[in-house]
Amino acid sequence: MSLRGTTFLESVLQTLKRAIELGGYPQEAYEMLSRPQRIVTVNIPVKMDNGKIQIFTGYRVQHNNALGPYKGGIRFHPEVTLEEDIALATVMTFKNSLNGLPYGGGKGAIAVDYKKLSKRELEELSRGYARALAPFIGPEVDIPAPDVGTDPQIMAWMVDEYSKMTGHNVPGVFTAKPVILWGNPVREYSTGFGVAVWAREAAKKLWGGIEGKTVAIQGFGNVGYWGAYWLEKMGAKVVAITDSRGGVYNPSGLKLAEVKAVKDKTSTVMNYESSGTRKVTNDEVLELPVDILVPAALENVIHKGNANNIKAKLIVEGANGPTTADAEKVLHTKGVWILPDLAANAGGVVMSYLEWVEDLQWYFWDEEETRNRLERILLDTFNRVMNRWNKLGMSQVTIREAAYVEAVDRIYNAMKVRGWI
Ligand code: GLU
Repeated sequence: MSLRGTTFLESVLQTLKRAIELGGYPQEAYEMLSRPQRIVTVNIPVKMDNGKIQIFTGYRVQHNNALGPYKGGIRFHPEVTLEEDIALATVMTFKNSLNGLPYGGGKGAIAVDYKKLSKRELEELSRGYARALAPFIGPEVDIPAPDVGTDPQIMAWMVDEYSKMTGHNVPGVFTAKPVILWGNPVREYSTGFGVAVWAREAAKKLWGGIEGKTVAIQGFGNVGYWGAYWLEKMGAKVVAITDSRGGVYNPSGLKLAEVKAVKDKTSTVMNYESSGTRKVTNDEVLELPVDILVPAALENVIHKGNANNIKAKLIVEGANGPTTADAEKVLHTKGVWILPDLAANAGGVVMSYLEWVEDLQWYFWDEEETRNRLERILLDTFNRVMNRWNKLGMSQVTIREAAYVEAVDRIYNAMKVRGWI
């Protein structure tokens, strides 16, 4: 337990336990799924610009591969811990299963403040990580991608390093690569697109549509920005946006393109000014009087200390693990719909899957066809989760629990026919 209540890993395991009970799966399924199959720790020496060697510790947690190769991002963040990485890898197993992908779950992490590295140091670190992990990854083994703090450029360095080691180009070993290096243009915005699609579908059920609904977004990285972009495109009104330093709120709506321009120029949305706009902190943004709240930064931001202050009726988890289990109980009792991470932010990994399929075939779809394929998969998951939730009883179980049951079902059956349990 942390000061904020349950830790991320504890929250994940609690939901898993409940899903195992709800689905009537044997205890062995919990035993298998509550721990990773393999944890790789690597120590990477990097020659810094000042000539000194600094050693960075990184991980790759390979949680479960019953359904296929491990799949999940790599996080660069100063505060990552092994426990957090295990939680993130576990969520990936369920996310990939829920969305019908032929993947297990994995996640990598390096404890580093990438903003303090020069471009050359960042490249060295990324290549070093790919080299150290090379014996444990591969297009049919484990396929990493970006997460918080990593991007297509980093994937390009990593795929290049891996390809040099194998002696030939291996496009399918990392996803979310630059378009020129066997990426797909949809991947850049796919997580935010998925967030918006899930919000739109839930809004149809709650209010008959998303048009004019007000939205507050915590986080202005890849997920927060593209989430805002697609939500605005679908007719919602984005009224608040923050980045890691804090942000801005305007009840009559923000002009996203202008906010983005300020962020690009000054590195924070806090410098955005217009009449009727005021500053908000990262705590305040969660408690604004809005219809839809999108936590799109880090985990555990909605906890038992602030759950009661949340006014949104719909929470869309752009981040992984933003709501603790304690907070979710409070919000569920209040009738708030929480669209859980493994569903709401799956647009990223579903698109990664499409990119990987392209890479394996060296054959590429155009942007529109790819986006349509992505949307079809997301809508199918949405319908399955809603059906499962209805069947289990909307007031008795949370949407996350329903999604976990749906996810565990496939993994359990795969483990069973393999003879693992
Ligand atoms: N990091 C993203 C996630 O948490 C994407 C993973 C991927 O594309 O493999 O789902």
